[in-house]
Amino acid sequence: DIHANIGHVEDVQQVLDNDADGIGLLRTEFLYLGNNMDCSEEGQFQAYKKVLEKMQGKRVVIRTLDAGADKQAAYLGMAREENPALGCRGVRLCLERRELFRTQLRALLRASVWGNLEVMYPMIISVAEVQKIQEILKEAREELTKEGIPWKDFPQGVMIETPAAVMISRELAAEVDFFSIGTNDLTQYTLAVDRQNGNLGAYYDPRHPAILQMIRMVVENGHAQGCRVGICGDLGSDPELTKVFVKMGVDELSVPPASILPLREVIRNSRAGAENS
Ligand code: PEP
Ligand code: MG
Repeated sequence: DIHANIGHVEDVQQVLDNDADGIGLLRTEFLYLGNNMDCSEEGQFQAYKKVLEKMQGKRVVIRTLDAGADKQAAYLGMAREENPALGCRGVRLCLERRELFRTQLRALLRASVWGNLEVMYPMIISVAEVQKIQEILKEAREELTKEGIPWKDFPQGVMIETPAAVMISRELAAEVDFFSIGTNDLTQYTLAVDRQNGNLGAYYDPRHPAILQMIRMVVENGHAQGCRVGICGDLGSDPELTKVFVKMGVDELSVPPASILPLREVIRNSRAGAENS
């Protein structure tokens, strides 16, 4: 399947225009970064509901807040750090600010009633983080039930974008329903190259054999536990690797909307090629 990556509610039209099988990554930083965005529980609920309704039952994977490093959010008043890419970013910030996270989880549980929602967590490095998320999720469900507000559970996944997550992917697979490999950060952290430093362009190589080996390992470990494995980093839209990913058993690619039709063509041609040979 080929899914779309987007970062705003308005981008859903592009997803539909390009005939994606679903949304594989909806980044939610827009709620906190943009001017006059409403990141209250109700504001988030309305935004997610709108996306789910527009997608008419197609799968929508929403990623919880991934602020920090390359995604600064002044609104959150985050502390200054010497090395923000190695700092309190992604799920770390959410686990430190439980109220902020609970608000987003409540909005997601409520929105889930309105479509085919799945939720994933960024920057995971341990099983303990996934378990802490489950505790907060449990509190959120109990609160909603007590308040008489309708909600529905959703399948959950983790982003595999740190070498640690790759190495413990077998253990992580036992905790979640799917993996989404974030090759942008995985490249940064594996090759020790700042993804934002243009001067290091020659070193920032997502096709590095180390990355391809890691993807292979994640697919094997994920599948061994019945966990779906997709790629949502930019490498997923590299047409020269599409065949390689299919062969590795990658279940889905999530790419920018404009890459969907060209990639589908690549897959169709490679299938035709395989049948004729
Ligand atoms: C990634 O790291 O590959 C990814 C998809 O997430 P982002 O680019 O938003 O960090
Ligand atoms: Mg990332």
